[in-house]
Amino acid sequence: MSRRIAAIAPSATLAVDAQAKAMKAAGEDVIGFGAGEPDFATPDHIVEAAVAACRDPLNHRYTPAGGLPELRAAIATKTRRDSGYEVGSDQVLVTNGGKHAVYNAFAALLDPGDEVLLPAPYWTTYPEPIRLAGGVPVPLLTDETTGFRVTVDQLEAARTPDTKAMVFVSPSNPTGAVYPRDEIEAIGRWAAEAGIWVVTDEIYEHLTYDHHEFHSMPVLVPELADRCLVLNGVAKTYAMTGWRVGWMVGPTDVVKAAANLQSHQTSNVANVSQRATLAAVSGGLEDVARMREAFERRGQRMHDMLNAIPGVTAMRPEGAFYAFPSFRAVLERGEVAGTPVRTTVELAEVILEQAKVAIVPGEAFAAPGYARLSFALGDDDLGEGIGRIDELLSR
Ligand code: PMP
Repeated sequence: MSRRIAAIAPSATLAVDAQAKAMKAAGEDVIGFGAGEPDFATPDHIVEAAVAACRDPLNHRYTPAGGLPELRAAIATKTRRDSGYEVGSDQVLVTNGGKHAVYNAFAALLDPGDEVLLPAPYWTTYPEPIRLAGGVPVPLLTDETTGFRVTVDQLEAARTPDTKAMVFVSPSNPTGAVYPRDEIEAIGRWAAEAGIWVVTDEIYEHLTYDHHEFHSMPVLVPELADRCLVLNGVAKTYAMTGWRVGWMVGPTDVVKAAANLQSHQTSNVANVSQRATLAAVSGGLEDVARMREAFERRGQRMHDMLNAIPGVTAMRPEGAFYAFPSFRAVLERGEVAGTPVRTTVELAEVILEQAKVAIVPGEAFAAPGYARLSFALGDDDLGEGIGRIDELLSR
């Protein structure tokens, strides 16, 4: 095996989810808070578009590697509608899920030794594609005392002549943090002035709670547009995790280069999935509004239940669908139900073994002492799962 590939860590979130699903398949009564996956079915009109697409022989053939022209145009229109970012269809690349857009963004931008500022806790998938492209992830630690938000001072302190890009995610996976407008603007200005690329992941744009609002950085800071890649996809907004469609929006030369890469790597994204996505992004936002309401209610409930467990403290989720509680006071006890527990990795193991509940330890997000729990699952499982953790930790 090459050193490059041998060094890749498996996706911790998918690993936790796979383990929970395997235990379930073996007949165990496991509740999974691992994967960030809505429990809703994909809306009917999207599924119907896919069924019709299956029957059209045009979709049985290769199509352009960068995406169906009508889908690229529809994504440009949707981007204008939802975030106010004015882009043309030649600025859109359709990818095999948001994850593929992350990979190709860094592959397109980075040369060996380029540093990428990565606010932490970060989604587990960012560092690996940075490293695979020869880049160096530079984590910038944040915690609940700043609402898990990075500051311009932190970014400036970490900047070196090798800094090529920064990652910006709001609403955030794994912390659920949402940056206020003035902070997004300040960070965007700083990046534009410093000549640093911003890779901004907007996949949770429609999922914000209370008074928190989503804002797109290149809309607030238009001078950033020449050095900004916006990543997005249908997985979270339309409950379409399994369809595997995402996209990248950016300057035409970078999009063209990433499309060239894709032409050797995957060719076109499955046409049936692209047709389903066309129906999704061209349709209304009623379904996501309904799901958002359910997530807000569940997030609130999860927050209240977690905070009622001795030794657990959680920030109220502001967006996305994750709670990110601290278990540090639990770890200080050194044991759970008679089993020694010193880290959140060990804690997650004990919770899975004894309470049959899967959570993702914070180590996966460069945040030991915390864990991520998705609240994109049904109400009954949510209540039962947190109840089991409470019962185990209160023993
Ligand atoms: N970005 C973020 C921040 C995510 O949380 C996810 C899903 N976990 C993705 C991108 C990618 O989603 P997908 O590949 O399923 O489109």
